[in-house]
Amino acid sequence: MENFKELRDMMVDTQLIPRGIKDERLLAAMRKVPRHLFIDEFMHKAYDDMALPIGEDQTISQPYMVAIMTELLELKGDEKVLEIGTGSGYQSAVLAELSLSVFTIERRAALAERAEERIHALGYGNVQIRVGDGTLGWPEDAPFDRIIITAGSPQIPKPLIEQLSDGGIIVAPVGDRFSQQLIVARKFKGSLSEQLHTPCMFVPLIGEYGWGKDED
Ligand code: SAH
Repeated sequence: MENFKELRDMMVDTQLIPRGIKDERLLAAMRKVPRHLFIDEFMHKAYDDMALPIGEDQTISQPYMVAIMTELLELKGDEKVLEIGTGSGYQSAVLAELSLSVFTIERRAALAERAEERIHALGYGNVQIRVGDGTLGWPEDAPFDRIIITAGSPQIPKPLIEQLSDGGIIVAPVGDRFSQQLIVARKFKGSLSEQLHTPCMFVPLIGEYGWGKDED
């Protein structure tokens, strides 16, 4: 049996801190959340410096990508967060450690179901998962203080901008089908100011305000 806690500490010490991740609460959360339990087939690679397949042609993001996107959200602990693209549920668990409540949407029912089992088995009571097109947001519980999109999109979906609180932050990979750049957008008085960050590569966001189904 491998010592997963040791591997997790090594992941933080060799992949996150040297690349500039500083938020102490985030580093503690990444030392805590058992990433290997969010991966079925490649558990032995769970703490490696890479994205991994989670079935249905989708991936769990590289640990560093989870860390940088979460750090850019500037969570203090009292935020209501919307995540688009639940996937394995790993990012949702990291968000659950750092915020008040997490609403997460996944379009593939089989992935959402497995993610929900994992999230509940780990005892996170502040995460709600829904199956559907996340580009439409979650209007009944809007507004959200933070929104994170974990699939690549041609633009930030308009409904999500509308469902962001004033002073809120959206982090999203925006670009073409195969390569994107992380965008951090802040909303002030109804309009967004955007900053570009790290280049990245995500599976496509498929939906009304994302890519068409033929890109799936
Ligand atoms: N955050 C995930 C990684 C997600 S991969 C993790 O920690 O494991 C991206 C996910 O977005 C995939 O599961 C894909 O099915 C989902 N997705 C793509 N388009 C979507 C949409 N419009 N709404 C909700 N989920 C979507």
